Amino acid sequence: MDRVQTNRNRFISKLLFPKENLVFALFISVMCLVIWLVTVLIIDAYLIKERRDYPSLINMAGKQRMLSQKAAFLTLARQTNQTADSDLKSAIDLMVENQAYLLTQAELVDLAGYYKKQALDKQIQEFSEFVTQLSVESNLQRKPQYTLDLMNMSEALQVALDKTVSEWERTSENANLQLIKYRILFGISFLITCFAVYLFVLAKPLHLSIVTANLKDHAINRFKRLFDYSHEGLLILDKDWHVVHANTAAKRVSNAFNSDSSMEHFWHEKINLKLKGKILSALDSVGRWEGEVFSNDEKTTYLHVSIIQVMDSNNQLDFYGAVMRNITDVREKEEKLKTLALYDGLTGLANRANIIECISEECGKSQESDGRFAVLFIDIDGFKLINDGYGHELGDKLLNKIGNRLSSITKNTDVVARLGGDEFVLLAKNITSDDVIVSLSKRIMKAFEAPIQCDDIGVQIGFSIGISVYPSDAESASELLKKADIAMYTAKQKGKNQFQFFNSEMELYLKERFSFEDDLRNGILNNEFFQLFQPVIDIKTGNIVGCEALLRWQSSTRDLVSPNNFIPMAESLNLMTEIDKWVFEASLKVIQALPKNFYFAINLSPKHFSNSEVLSAFLSKLSAIENKARILFEITETTIITDIEKSTRIIKNIRKQGFLVAIDDFGTGYTSLYNLKRLEFDIIKIDRSFIKDISTDSNSKNIVEAIVKLAQNLGLNVVAEGVETKEQLECLREFGCSYAQGYYFSKPIEINALENKYFGKTTT
Ligand code: C2E
Ligand code: MG
Ligand code: MG
Repeated sequence: MDRVQTNRNRFISKLLFPKENLVFALFISVMCLVIWLVTVLIIDAYLIKERRDYPSLINMAGKQRMLSQKAAFLTLARQTNQTADSDLKSAIDLMVENQAYLLTQAELVDLAGYYKKQALDKQIQEFSEFVTQLSVESNLQRKPQYTLDLMNMSEALQVALDKTVSEWERTSENANLQLIKYRILFGISFLITCFAVYLFVLAKPLHLSIVTANLKDHAINRFKRLFDYSHEGLLILDKDWHVVHANTAAKRVSNAFNSDSSMEHFWHEKINLKLKGKILSALDSVGRWEGEVFSNDEKTTYLHVSIIQVMDSNNQLDFYGAVMRNITDVREKEEKLKTLALYDGLTGLANRANIIECISEECGKSQESDGRFAVLFIDIDGFKLINDGYGHELGDKLLNKIGNRLSSITKNTDVVARLGGDEFVLLAKNITSDDVIVSLSKRIMKAFEAPIQCDDIGVQIGFSIGISVYPSDAESASELLKKADIAMYTAKQKGKNQFQFFNSEMELYLKERFSFEDDLRNGILNNEFFQLFQPVIDIKTGNIVGCEALLRWQSSTRDLVSPNNFIPMAESLNLMTEIDKWVFEASLKVIQALPKNFYFAINLSPKHFSNSEVLSAFLSKLSAIENKARILFEITETTIITDIEKSTRIIKNIRKQGFLVAIDDFGTGYTSLYNLKRLEFDIIKIDRSFIKDISTDSNSKNIVEAIVKLAQNLGLNVVAEGVETKEQLECLREFGCSYAQGYYFSKPIEINALENKYFGKTTT
């Protein structure tokens, strides 16, 4: 309010004494005054002179009149000798003299138009001449007529003079009126001039200063309201940092920071004391300070504070201005985003981006200090089975517990991260030797030897760990991670639950694997597959009863590839659906061409257990064929036991539609007798590994014999796979095994060859 008052006073003083224009305004005013005075003086002098002359003229005319009367009287008296000639003479002389004066004055008072000067002049001239003549002749007695004439002329002169006097009197009146008129006119024009001068010289700047002052007033008012209503906390502090003004927002901000303290206390104790040194040096050097202040309460409040120095007109410090903003919300959001961006939401461990950053940082540090560190890529063995078996909820809990356990067994300086899924990474810093890494890996394995309790279920897990070491394996984060991953992959390939240090051969292997993957994708696109068929023989009769379709891939860039090599790859790359589609199409054609009582076996990939649509489509196409019970679907034992429930459903579905199901490679998956009974197979195919030694190894012989007996008890048919010798065949015959398949009879062959060999015809 004080400031507004001061400004108002300033405005008024400016209005009355506009500094810049004062000298000029004074000059103009003086000039006007002078002009007015001079003009009035000139007009007055002119008119006053005239007025001054009129009375003397009137007076003189009166005198002349008297003299003319006197002359006429003397002339009359002269006639009667009562007067001396000399008197008359002197009266006439006086008249002549007066007349001359009158003429001169009339000449001087040349106010043509105001009276009839000419006529009077003439009158006076005539009278003067006549009087002069009288004085010259000096004998008025002898010329009495002259006396009469003189009398008449005198009277006429009197009349003319009277007339002239009244004319002059009237003119004088007029002149007076004229003077008044002039004064009024001049007064008006002077006023107008003054007004114009005021308007253009004084009023304009004054008006401008009024407008400016109004604007300033308005602006100040607006700034005041801005100050009051601002959401930013605004403060004005004096030189000693005492709060002079603070808006509502400033009070609100300081309250949020510390509700117990006053504004003054907040500023002095919380901010000023804490940061004074920093702030003052920043103000000294750059004139402003900007920073963050946060409270140490349970819930941290963050303030953004910016302070500037405001100088006076002499460039001396006048006051400090401060702006404060409560940025707690922003900071909290940032923290959340940071957590989301850098930490795994499930375990709270560092995420991929974070660990890459940590490894990069460590690369830099180790480069400077010639240090070593290791990256351990840790993958849970068979986590998918756990997830599918116990559900994702339990899977998540398990991952959480694994994360906690990994963190608890590592050093504080080490970083544990979860890359996603069941992949963890451990950054082990300051590694002095490989032995340290070995013992760390063993410690990890040991820590997970005991089952992890999750929802009252004890889950047993194992790890495959791949290790890369800085700087021997790689010198960048991405390379170290990649190489640890390769090593982990190798550990998995080598039988899981172990650790592997990276070596360059692994990389070559992976390169080859990647190129194999590319080739396989191209192979699917280019239809590079074909089928071979291996006959199945009835051991009793030695006749062919059916065949098994076996897939081959003739890559354009490789030799013929066995399904054992490309099918697991296709499964892991989710390419199996495409391959199966091809197999089913090709099989359908062959089935339709083969005899109606001829068994036809198709191998089913485990992937069908996740995508059964392709299989269902195939089954519905097959439903039209005669004798559906000759179509046999082979599912490997290991596939079945990975998901018993699903397998049971699918097997039931196949069998329900009238097709047969065989458990392939039996004996490799350790199916329990309970499952064997529950799964309801039609055929058991004993794995080649047992048949191989059947004639030489008693164990194999006993196992095969037991399987055959078991199958017979369960009412199942048995096919022995991989029969290569007569001895093997004889053993099987002895055990009462129904069917055999193997090189002893035939290797897998083309359909034409099969038909030629067994049916003596060619399929179209
Ligand atoms: P499998 O179904 O157990 O097929 C028998 C495998 O044993 C075949 O290998 C066959 O060539 C081989 N074999 C048969 N008799 C003998 C023998 O006397 N001695 C030796 N050493 N081997 C013999 P193949 O064709 O390489 O197939 C390997 C596996 O690939 C198959 O095992 C089957 O599980 C899978 N497979 C083959 N074709 C397909 C297919 O179309 N789809 C699917 N999903 N899997 C297939
Ligand atoms: Mg098979
Ligand atoms: Mg087999």
